[in-house]
Amino acid sequence: MAILIFSGKAFDGKRFYEDATVKVDSKSGTILGFGESGSVEEPRGSKKTKVEGGTILPGLIDAHVHFYSSKGAGVNEWASVPDTLAVLRGAGDMRKLLRAGFTAVRELGTKGGVHLAQAVAEGAIDGPEVVSCARALAQTGGDDDPPAFSLEVAQQLTSYTYFCDGPWECRKAVRKVARDGGRVVKFYASGAFSRGTEVKPNFTLEETRAIVDESKRLGLKVAAHAYGEEAIGRAVSCGVDSIEHGLGLTPRLASEMKRKGTRYVPTLVTYANPAYKNRCNEMVKRHLSDDMLVAKESGTEVAMGSDIVGDGARPHGRNYEEIAEEARFLGNREALVAATSRAADCLGLEKAGMLREGYRADIVVVRGDPEKDIQALAPERVIHVMKSGRLV
Ligand SMILES: [Zn+2]
Repeated sequence: MAILIFSGKAFDGKRFYEDATVKVDSKSGTILGFGESGSVEEPRGSKKTKVEGGTILPGLIDAHVHFYSSKGAGVNEWASVPDTLAVLRGAGDMRKLLRAGFTAVRELGTKGGVHLAQAVAEGAIDGPEVVSCARALAQTGGDDDPPAFSLEVAQQLTSYTYFCDGPWECRKAVRKVARDGGRVVKFYASGAFSRGTEVKPNFTLEETRAIVDESKRLGLKVAAHAYGEEAIGRAVSCGVDSIEHGLGLTPRLASEMKRKGTRYVPTLVTYANPAYKNRCNEMVKRHLSDDMLVAKESGTEVAMGSDIVGDGARPHGRNYEEIAEEARFLGNREALVAATSRAADCLGLEKAGMLREGYRADIVVVRGDPEKDIQALAPERVIHVMKSGRLV
């Protein structure tokens, strides 16, 4: 049977419909039609599923994940997982994500991330489409450079990062990402909290300009990990496409992001994680209370990203919790926009993230109504997942 039809309550990537129909060609993996019930022609012999008490949505998209695949947490743990074991565990996480309704993710620094992406694309493993950064760009001595090891060993172990210093090394690192098959460039515009509570801007203005300019020349989007006004400001002024985490967002920066179309990927669920409690400094607290209000007030567009890394503290599978965190500020509908149509745009995916004619048939059906109850997106309430027209 090539034609599949779902009808019932639906969210199309922008808004809800009380009773809609989506028609899928499972052969080509595309949506043939979507609209209010009765407006979509239903050919005789097509297989129809009436969704009672559930909701049809575009596949969910997480714009910020990693597959560190370690049992423990922290940069030393991540760095010391053997590459082969990392991708095998990563393949398990991919299956979990797909079953939880995620049909695409953007990974921003993972051992073998491009190979996970390739394995899914080839059909060797089941999983969401992976938009990989190949390796993240970080400065020598930054928070991603584990000081417990000698520099040479650290650079070998952190095979999810290219260390680069000075504009020409930065340009070369971008070229290596492109050579590796990366589809986005991720760089550390600031530290994280890997070494305590203090964070500093990373990369000079000259280096940041070089990274962004070289990425644009190669047609790649740029995602900046940025904490604090100086790091966010420098990244935004240099023209990055998204600010990841964005702790310490100010109204001035948020307005500039709105004006330039820079996306905000807040990764709230990571900071709300109990593993962060002992580092509960003012910046983290403020991120969980105020930063999203600042973004909302200015109209800065949020794209959903969890920063779930697949380690002992932040396992994959319940990434929808980020949507629930964002919904506290944005409301359920807007949080779902951030996790579907806008996330697709943030990843640079063509014809994805919406229930629309000609779009890819990435569809999830959940029990309940996420317009009223965001918990309807929990993995135990996922009834059907379709990726490119194929039911999982
Ligand atoms: Zn991250």
